[in-house]
Amino acid sequence: MTGMRLCVACGMPMKTAADFAMGDTEKDYCVHCARTDGSMQSYGEKAASLAAFLVMTQGLDGGAALEAAKGMMTRLPAWKGVGGIA
Ligand SMILES: [Zn+2]
Repeated sequence: MTGMRLCVACGMPMKTAADFAMGDTEKDYCVHCARTDGSMQSYGEKAASLAAFLVMTQGLDGGAALEAAKGMMTRLPAWKGVGGIA
């Protein structure tokens, strides 16, 4: 195993092979950021799934959750320059 790595798309620490997309430690994104075919989710897909998570865990309404999700994503390497960020 390599040292601890962070998912480029959501920032989750990936500690074991099971945390990586498809269990593939060569990938730089996690199992939660992969589509069922193993490719990485798009900005829109990830924003929507993060927003749904925030609605569930923090009780935000849909619009506020989407804004919060996009705000979180601006800090992650996978989304630099994506989603209208200068
Ligand atoms: Zn992730």
